[in-house]
Amino acid sequence: MSLLEHLSAKLAAIEAQSLKRALRRADTGTAPRQTINGRPLLMFCANDYLGLAAEPALADALAEGARKWGGGSGASPLVSGHSAAHEAVTDTLARWYAPHIPQARAISFCTGYMANLAVVTALGDEHTEIFSEQLNHASLIDAARLAKATVTRYGHADVAGLRTLLAASTAKVKLIVTDAVFSMDGDLAPVPELLALASEFDAWLVVDDAHGFGVLGAQGRGTLEHFGLNSERLILIGTLGKAAGLAGAFVVAHATITEYLLQAARNFIFSTASPPAIEHALLTSLALIEGPVGQARRANLVALQARLRTGLETLIQAHPALGWALTPATTPIQPLIVGGNADVMLAAARLEAGGIRVPGIRPPTVAAGTARLRITLCGTHTEADVDQLLATLRATAQELEAA
Ligand SMILES: *Cc1c(COP(=O)(O)O)cnc(C)c1O
Repeated sequence: MSLLEHLSAKLAAIEAQSLKRALRRADTGTAPRQTINGRPLLMFCANDYLGLAAEPALADALAEGARKWGGGSGASPLVSGHSAAHEAVTDTLARWYAPHIPQARAISFCTGYMANLAVVTALGDEHTEIFSEQLNHASLIDAARLAKATVTRYGHADVAGLRTLLAASTAKVKLIVTDAVFSMDGDLAPVPELLALASEFDAWLVVDDAHGFGVLGAQGRGTLEHFGLNSERLILIGTLGKAAGLAGAFVVAHATITEYLLQAARNFIFSTASPPAIEHALLTSLALIEGPVGQARRANLVALQARLRTGLETLIQAHPALGWALTPATTPIQPLIVGGNADVMLAAARLEAGGIRVPGIRPPTVAAGTARLRITLCGTHTEADVDQLLATLRATAQELEAA
């Protein structure tokens, strides 16, 4: 069989299961109102939770950074790619997390996927057992597959189950690995309980705060600030392409851990450092996150979340035959579970016809039978935007029920 025939058969199978994905072309920058494939839409799908990607101050900082530093970094960090701009960002982040992680030191990565790969493969050696939460992000799952460690999965938020597994483990090093905010459910991991288990069983806790960074905590420092945690057992990964509105990621942990990553993480060592202009602009982004702009947008998000959730609950009660449901979300990620793959894509298409973009999320991203509309809010959405979404969802529900 030729490769082309082989792939065509696989593509046909993907299509038959209503699992085919397609690119859409953004004609304007990410914002609550965006032109997609030439059509203006009200968007509830980006992870730009504070609306910083469209912030003029960030564009100015990026331009200033480009004038100062030019284009790319030119090399991997250990060769010559690590700039003063990179160092200013990691120094700021180390200071942010000093109250949460003793002897905190940060290192930067080009993406969250890369940061996760670095942490889990470098720390997950043959002496290590990784305890991986069932709903972890694909990058953590891929990283665990690449690691030499033994990998044991525990159930979603199943603290008791994890305790049993930790008690039975004879591994020299134990690494608990979890998303802080689950990206397709919007709920929070029981991080304080996981940290207590880590202390009890001499384990270490890797927390991927991709969706908590910038969003949770009074100053936007994320899940550790939200829960008021402090422990040298915490290894935090934050991403800078979501609430920070730019690109990149960081790991902050006890200095011995970050020093080891710098020596051993192959994808840190063998990959070109991010453009210094981005790092320069990240300093502005971090200032916006902790300052009045971030504070106001976080407050708006909390209010919009409550408004949306109340509206969705009313909608679900009005249409019990559709079998729609909510997840226990407490963040700007507020998914609406529809169930079937074809059903969710039909609902997403109806919304789009009504001028609203909410992506349908299907397996393997979520479990079979739990396909969902992943609604995400942005700190620059308004109450009127949320009301427009709810009205369009009501019309969609009526159409689907009548069909
Ligand atoms: C988006 C995401 C990542 C990957 O971060 P990128 O910077 O986009 O590569 C990692 N973990 C989680 C939970 C995410 O949602």
